[in-house]
Amino acid sequence: MVLDRMTDYGHEAVTYVSDPETGLQAIVAVHDTTLGPALGGTRMLPYDTEADALQDVLRLSKAMTYKAAAADLDLGGGKAVIVGDPEQKTAEMMAAYGQAVDALGGRYITSVDINTGVEDLDVIADHTDHVVGVSDGLGDPSPVTAYGVFRGVEETARYELDRPVSELSVTIQGIGKVGTGLAERLLERGADVTVSDVDTDQLESFADEYGVATVAPEDVYAEPCDVFAPCAIGGVLNDDTIPQLNCEIVAGGANNVLKRRDHAEMLQDRGIRYAPDYVINAGGLITVHTEHVDGTIEDAFEKADAIGDRLIELYERADDRGVTPLQAAREYAEERLERGRDPLATPA
Ligand code: NAD
Repeated sequence: MVLDRMTDYGHEAVTYVSDPETGLQAIVAVHDTTLGPALGGTRMLPYDTEADALQDVLRLSKAMTYKAAAADLDLGGGKAVIVGDPEQKTAEMMAAYGQAVDALGGRYITSVDINTGVEDLDVIADHTDHVVGVSDGLGDPSPVTAYGVFRGVEETARYELDRPVSELSVTIQGIGKVGTGLAERLLERGADVTVSDVDTDQLESFADEYGVATVAPEDVYAEPCDVFAPCAIGGVLNDDTIPQLNCEIVAGGANNVLKRRDHAEMLQDRGIRYAPDYVINAGGLITVHTEHVDGTIEDAFEKADAIGDRLIELYERADDRGVTPLQAAREYAEERLERGRDPLATPA
């Protein structure tokens, strides 16, 4: 039963939306609004079953609660899925979706995710104010995300290795928007950068332009370096790849880097410091939150600057308590939520 699943995950509300005229079928999940309105993107995928769509939206919205809480944002966690073939997406469908978001009265704020883009948000924005990431907003959040990852690499290396960026070797997996932004900042500061990407044309032109070394995608994990920065896809660190790692730090922008949560322990057992993905890559969420509160892009960069200090705080907490930084991040987020529910509660 959906209600049982909501209870298991701790969701406040799940709204099913159907508009037969446009073919819209969507599920909007509001996980927790203790700290503020539930913010999270809308993805459109041709899920095999309704149960798959529900599972995805419940899981992702809960993760957003923790991401916002760990980033010290006054936001809750939400997410939405539109069930369908992205090729069949129409402006009318997006308009109907915008009305559905509006009907939630601001409890849920939407943004982009897989198979939705700024053009969809602009249509949605004609029907609701509860949308961020629109074309006249703060624009692509990737530069802020890349900056936050850079600060995370810098501070993690200082804490762990007592070395500045100029003395680091960093291997970047994925030179898309975030990976490129990270590489540029690292190179500017004199780091030794090696890059890898499945898109070989892009990889070659990147290596030519920046004069950096490359490594084949299948060899990237074993590449000797101080920092491995995954900036491509999720699930890359798993039972097969963790034993191959030849680095001291894993700190990158990709979401869901670990295939399973217990891979954080596997990294710790190997003596590798892991910067929790949802903490180090919070620059994107920081940007859309800043847009929501009518801030500037400079405000977003300033807030993302604090990601470095936040990571140090988590490493200290993890080391004190003998847990992984991932667990420390979870505990930090839970404490914030607890205080939000009971403002008189004192920190643990
Ligand atoms: P992107 O699509 O611009 O770049 C991804 C790059 O990774 C591409 O160049 C692609 O060819 C490459 N790639 C894909 N699979 C690969 C593999 N197996 N090995 C090596 N390279 C591979 O995406 P992006 O916006 O740079 O985001 C990168 C990651 O960061 C994603 O996991 C995304 O969810 C996460 N993230 C991005 C933002 C943001 O603001 N863009 C914010 C938070 C998290």
